[in-house]
Amino acid sequence: MSVWHARAAALYDGSPRRMLIDGDWCDARSGEVIEARDPATGRLLATVPKGGAVDIDAAVLAARRAFEGPWARVTPFERQALLLRIAERVQAEWEDLCLSDTLDMGMPIQRSLTNSRRVLGMLRFYAGQAVAIHGQTIPNSFPGEIRSSTVREPVGVVGAIIPWNAPIAGSVWKIAPALATGCTVVLKPSEEASLTVLMLARIMQDCGLPPGVLNVVTGLGPEAGAALAAHPGIDRIAFTGSTETGRSIARAAAGNIKRVSLELGGKSPVILCRDADLDRAIPVAAMAVFANSGQICIAGSRLFVAREIEDEVLARLADHARALRIGHGIDPETEIGPLISARQAARVEDFLQRGRTEGARVLAGGARVAPDGMEGGHFIQPTVFAGVADDMAIAREEIFGPVLSVLPFDELDDVVTRANATPYGLAAGVFTTHLGTAHKLAHRLRAGTVWVNMYHAIDPAVPFGGVKMSGHGREGGTEHLDEFLDTKAIWINTD
Ligand code: ADP
Repeated sequence: MSVWHARAAALYDGSPRRMLIDGDWCDARSGEVIEARDPATGRLLATVPKGGAVDIDAAVLAARRAFEGPWARVTPFERQALLLRIAERVQAEWEDLCLSDTLDMGMPIQRSLTNSRRVLGMLRFYAGQAVAIHGQTIPNSFPGEIRSSTVREPVGVVGAIIPWNAPIAGSVWKIAPALATGCTVVLKPSEEASLTVLMLARIMQDCGLPPGVLNVVTGLGPEAGAALAAHPGIDRIAFTGSTETGRSIARAAAGNIKRVSLELGGKSPVILCRDADLDRAIPVAAMAVFANSGQICIAGSRLFVAREIEDEVLARLADHARALRIGHGIDPETEIGPLISARQAARVEDFLQRGRTEGARVLAGGARVAPDGMEGGHFIQPTVFAGVADDMAIAREEIFGPVLSVLPFDELDDVVTRANATPYGLAAGVFTTHLGTAHKLAHRLRAGTVWVNMYHAIDPAVPFGGVKMSGHGREGGTEHLDEFLDTKAIWINTD
C-alpha cells in the first residue's frame, strides 16, 4: 500500500460533485448524473452532473454577461496577477490534482507528478503574455492627415471541449490563453474524466475569478458538447479530441461562422536509422507509444526501423515492453495503468485481433491482463507487432492503446514517403547520429512537430498542433494567443 491509497479514499468517496455555472456550483437542470469510476478497479469515485443543452445555454449566457461586464474592465496587469495566483495554487495542490487524474482516468502518478513543469509553465507563460498584447501604428497610402492603427481584442466567449487523456494540461492549455487575452470560457470536459477539471475550476474560482468568466459544464459529447459547438453565443471553439468528432464540431460551428481550432488524432511515425544510438533510442521509442498506455494523440505508433538493425531492435523493444510494470496508477512503481474504459479496451483488443488476422506477429504482450485485486479494470499489455505491412489496420488507424507496429525500411527516401502516407500529421520522431539525416528528415516529414533523438517534448512557449487530418491551429507560443484575439483596424481623419 502506498501513501496514496489513504489519500485516494479520502479524495473521492462516491459522493456527488457539481459543475460551475456563473460562479455557482450546480446540478444539471435535468437532475441526471454520470458515474465516475476508477478504470483500474471499477470503484465508484463520484457522480457528476449530466449537463445538457439548457445548462450550456445558462453557461453561455453567464460567460457573455461576464465578457461584456466586469471582466472587460479587468486590466491586463490584473489578469496577469490572477494567472500567477492560479499558478501558485495549482502548484500547492499539485499532488491532489495528479491523484485525482490517476483515479479518474488511470494516468500513473509517477508520470503525472512530472507534468507540473509544463502545466505551471503554461499558466506563467500566458501570465507573461497578458501584458504583452498590443496593436500597431501602420503607415497608409492616403494623402493628408489620416492615421491607421490596429488593436488586438479578445474574440469573446470561447467554447472549449477536451478529451479524457490529459485533463489538467488539456484544460489549462485552453483556459490560460483565454484568461490572458480577456476572453471568457465555457469548458466541457470529457464524460470519462471530469473530476480533475472540476477541482481545477474550484482552485481558479478561489483565486478570485469573477462569476461567469470560467464555466465548466459536465455532460455527454453528443448532448452538452454538441450544444456548445453549435451555440450561436459562442465565438470560438477550441477542441481537442478525435478526428471524427472534430469533423462534426467543424460542421456545427459553421452555423454562426465560429472560429475553430482542432487538435485531433494521429498515427505518428518514428524513424530509427541504422546509425542511431540504440541504448538511448530504444527506451524513448518504446515510451513514445506506451506512455499513458498509448492514450496520447502523439503516440509514436509506427516505428520504421532500418532493416540492418531490425532483429536487434525488435528483441530489445520486446524485452522493454515485457519489463514495464502494469498496475494501479497510484502505485509509484506503475509504468502502465489501465485504459480509460471497457469500451476502449475492447476497441484495442479488436485491433490486436485484426493485427494477428492480417498476418503480423506478436513479439510481446498482445492480451488483456488483470493485476491482483483489479479484475474490474481495463488493462492491456504493452504490445509489439513485427512483420507489419503498411496497409494493415494496425499500421494505418489510430488505436489509442499500447500497441506498436514495427516496419523495416531500406532507403531514407522510401521511408519518408511511407511515413508521410497517412491522413494524419501530428508528430514524428527521428533517431540518428548523423546531422545531415536529422535535418533532412526533420524537414521532409509532414507533421506539426518533429523530434530528433527525443520524443514527447511539449512546452508552453513552443507551438504544438497538427497538419492534414490532425487538425489546425496551434497551442503554445504566441501563435496560440492569436487564436483568442481579433485584430481591429482604426482609421482616424485628423484633418
Ligand atoms: P476521445 O475518444 O479521445 O475522448 P472524442 O472526440 O470522442 O475523443 O471526445 C473528445 C471530447 O469531445 C469529449 O469531451 C467528448 O464529450 C466531446 N464530444 C464527443 N462527441 C461530440 C460531439 N458530437 N460534439 C461535441 N463534442 C463532442
